[in-house]
Amino acid sequence: MIELSGMYEEEIGLFLEWLARRERFVAFEGAQVVSEGGIGHIAVPLEFGPTFQGRRIATVGAPYRIPKVDLGNACCPHFSIGKITTGAEDIVFEDVPIVMHGHQGSHWPGCGTAQVFVAEGWRRGPSPHDRWSFGPAANSGGFTINAGDDPDDLDLPGKPKKPEPLPGAFGIRAGDDPEAMIRMMQAMSGLQGGKDDG
Ligand SMILES: [Zn+2]
Repeated sequence: MIELSGMYEEEIGLFLEWLARRERFVAFEGAQVVSEGGIGHIAVPLEFGPTFQGRRIATVGAPYRIPKVDLGNACCPHFSIGKITTGAEDIVFEDVPIVMHGHQGSHWPGCGTAQVFVAEGWRRGPSPHDRWSFGPAANSGGFTINAGDDPDDLDLPGKPKKPEPLPGAFGIRAGDDPEAMIRMMQAMSGLQGGKDDG
């Protein structure tokens, strides 16, 4: 278990790079989410989570919004809002799992599967080649949304903001050994009280 709450910003940057080399791409506020019939983003700003270069890393529970879902149903098109529900089991911030590319969330109104995948992370932009397999359709239940409602006029979490490109790595030099850095960080976290014993 790696706890980010005690890390310096530079350590978080090295850790993000180390994870990216292992095909694990940490998601930030503003990251794209893909649902059936619509594309949205994790809220900006988030109110919880570690900060790296002025942006928060997303954790489980982070709100997202989809400005327009259109599946051709009677209720469509409409916006949806939801929360990220899955995250990394082994990397946490104040015991809350970190969210990465490929993790999922669910939203309301639950048109279609009411499910999203996080499609963007550190060193991993959204790709048209990504294919997401959505589960069986959820029961959308009763709700009243008018086509053409402007979610920006409503008091909903996660007001939209165009996500900025992810910034470059912080303090990485050619030749740095991320493995050694991670071993060092793990040793340090052990000295700080061993959250991962047991
Ligand atoms: Zn709909």
